[in-house]
Amino acid sequence: MARRKATYAATCHCGAIRIHVPRISRTLTSCNCSICRRYGALWAYYAASAVKIEAPKGGLSKYSWNRRIRAYCRCKKCGCVTHYVYRKKRRNPIVAVNAVNFEPSALEGVRIRHLDGAASWKFLD
Ligand SMILES: [Zn+2]
Repeated sequence: MARRKATYAATCHCGAIRIHVPRISRTLTSCNCSICRRYGALWAYYAASAVKIEAPKGGLSKYSWNRRIRAYCRCKKCGCVTHYVYRKKRRNPIVAVNAVNFEPSALEGVRIRHLDGAASWKFLD
C-alpha cells in the first residue's frame, strides 16, 4: 500500500486558507523592505508545482505595489498574509509562503536569514 507523504500546512488564523507544502525549507527569509517589514513575514520559497493552496472562492485579497511584480495574498476573513506570487508568467514559477502561518514546532531550528530588500538586496548575515 502506498504511504501518503507527510506534508505541512500553513494556515491563516481563521483556517479558511490552507497552504500545503511537502517540507519546511532549510532557511526562511526576513526582509526589511517597506512591505515585508510591515507584514512581519518570514518567507519560505517553493516551486509553484509543489504547493497546494486551499482557499474558498473569493477568499483571498491581493495587493501589489510599486512595479506590481508580486501579488501579496491575504485571507479576506482574518487578514493574515499567507503568501505571494509573481503576477507575470515565469519559466519556473515560485510561491513564497509566509512561514509564520506554520505551527511553531515545524519551524524549530530553521535558520532565519535577513535580506536587505530595502537597499542592497544582499543578505545581512
Ligand atoms: Zn483567515
